[in-house]
Amino acid sequence: MSLPQYEVFALRYGTRDAMSSSHFLGGDPHDAPMPMDYFVWVARSPDRTFVIDTGFTREDAIARKREFLCDPIDSLTEIGIKAADVNDVILTHLHYDHAGNFGKFPKATFHLQDKEMDYATGRFMGFAKTAHSFDVDDVTGLVRMNFSGRMQFHDGEEELAPGLSVHRLGGHTPGMQCVRVNTARGIVVLASDTSHFYENFLNYRPYVNVVNQPDMLQGYRTLRSLADSLDHIVPGHDPLVMKKYPAMSKATAGLVIRLDVTPRN
Ligand SMILES: [Zn+2]
Repeated sequence: MSLPQYEVFALRYGTRDAMSSSHFLGGDPHDAPMPMDYFVWVARSPDRTFVIDTGFTREDAIARKREFLCDPIDSLTEIGIKAADVNDVILTHLHYDHAGNFGKFPKATFHLQDKEMDYATGRFMGFAKTAHSFDVDDVTGLVRMNFSGRMQFHDGEEELAPGLSVHRLGGHTPGMQCVRVNTARGIVVLASDTSHFYENFLNYRPYVNVVNQPDMLQGYRTLRSLADSLDHIVPGHDPLVMKKYPAMSKATAGLVIRLDVTPRN
């Protein structure tokens, strides 16, 4: 039996200006403007809908001085999805920009790696440097979800539905996972923060926010082996993604694009 084909969307909801030297471990000799976009993703087959990450809120954006373009929960409605109806949310990791808004999914089961919950509730959150990228209210809220039986934990690689699987790569955080999904153009890998930019995995240049550099580098290699080609890997924060893929509609230009179609080069 052939695998179901998923439609895949990226919902861009935030952005910030930055210099390239701030993104790469060891800086960047050609220091230049290199902004960063913030996304939520969706993979939808005729049978199943997966929301992948939940973004941050307007309040988070103000507190962290990020530009908030739109509420990602509102963008879901642009593709015909009501958060209240969603059954499955994959959290690639628990950084603030990936794990806010979970309370807006009253029916969902949240898919997370064991190691991510261990890390976000363990000893290293006692250090400001490692805690900085987490929001304590998100983490405690997800602990409560667990006590309500609404977390589904994974350890490494797991198929969540025919044609869709999660893979722990670590590196950026210990439980950092990517999502591999079958589409009409082949196997696409949503890297999320296993590779913030194309530059990370294409040239094996580690991102600056890293807990395990060898795992991050190996992760770039694993991304390549999971995807049908380099063009099938979608980095987690790269504004180039918006240039390569078509908008879903005129009305959502700059905010909602399709990733299950061949990108421009
Ligand atoms: Zn992150």
